[in-house]
Amino acid sequence: MTHLSTACIHADDIHNRVTDVAPPINVSTTFRYDNENLVPEVEIENFIETIEQTPVYSRESHPNSLRLQTVLSDILGGHATVYNSGVSAFHALIFHYNPKRFFMDDGYSGVRGIATLYQEKHGLETYKLHQIEEFAEKGDLIHLEVPLNPYGTCRDIAALAKRVHKKGAILSIDSTLAPPPLQDAWDFGADVVMHSATKYLGGHSDLLAGVVVVKTMEQQRKLIRERIFLGTNVGNLESFLLLRSLRTFEMRVLKQSENAAKIVSFLHENKAKYSKVLNEVYHSSLQKEAFVQRQLAGGHGAVFSVTLRSVEQCKKLPAKLVYFQHATSLGGVESLIEWRALSDTKIDPFLVRLSIGCENADDLIQDLDNALQVLQGAAKD
Ligand SMILES: *Cc1c(COP(=O)(O)O)cnc(C)c1O
Repeated sequence: MTHLSTACIHADDIHNRVTDVAPPINVSTTFRYDNENLVPEVEIENFIETIEQTPVYSRESHPNSLRLQTVLSDILGGHATVYNSGVSAFHALIFHYNPKRFFMDDGYSGVRGIATLYQEKHGLETYKLHQIEEFAEKGDLIHLEVPLNPYGTCRDIAALAKRVHKKGAILSIDSTLAPPPLQDAWDFGADVVMHSATKYLGGHSDLLAGVVVVKTMEQQRKLIRERIFLGTNVGNLESFLLLRSLRTFEMRVLKQSENAAKIVSFLHENKAKYSKVLNEVYHSSLQKEAFVQRQLAGGHGAVFSVTLRSVEQCKKLPAKLVYFQHATSLGGVESLIEWRALSDTKIDPFLVRLSIGCENADDLIQDLDNALQVLQGAAKD
């Protein structure tokens, strides 16, 4: 297999159809049949392969998504199916496995939201991870988001995989916050891996997409068949944007990871300087357990959280920063900060999340230092 950065740029070369170096954007929803070679659909043996090679209708497949699927399959180490959002990807996943029971602790609210819909509409039983031993059975789905949003903290996939597989259940990992080369969930026992490609894979805060990765092509073909009927294929323009983003994926994510580790280390070491503002810093780089280094072998994720001393400070900090924009989401080249209470109903009201971009780390540190000092000066004893 080629290395990550090469695959990001060349894995889809096999699908070159024209001499353009940048692949053309094909916006068509429908494609002319070959009048010299007309085969009724009932007679087509490998339907998915056929429509990928000779597209018919873009809800089923289109040239830009085929290129994208090829690159994502290569860099995510399996067989990828691409969707129109990360939440769509998880919906496809739970629809595909159709479990009787679903186990999950904290995690993305939209993912939990889908599980709740299944509970309400289809009677899915939902449990916490500590109930696996008591209730899990063959075919049940156990879902872990790692690193965990908004904290950026790490949980042990291998230890969970053992407990899940003892029951014959399925382990899905949401690896959005640490895509390869940071974390490779396959190495620790994942059965299926998903990402919101809106985040690091996209990396420019300008597209929505999601991906489900499985180990066999046979299973991927089933997911693609289901996606045709769910109507959740990724769009043509988004495919082009995501493909373009992937060309620089490794550079971006490594830089973001390095920046985040530097900034977290600065804040952690200088906590005393901002004692009236900064309470706790949360990030995998501050965890001491041995599995953390093993699992985040390629580097830590670029999202972390801090808790401040007051809600007032949480409201003021974002406005005092020059380079961090006050907005939700994460993974883009631009650094963001968010008082999480604005978009999360269950979160600690003192928590502020930071998503580190590709700016210069020292500039970001200086920005944070200035803002925290201003708040420190204004704080009462
Ligand atoms: C954003 C996110 C999702 C959902 O992805 P969308 O592209 O917004 O639908 C799922 N899981 C995690 C961890 C996320 O950060």
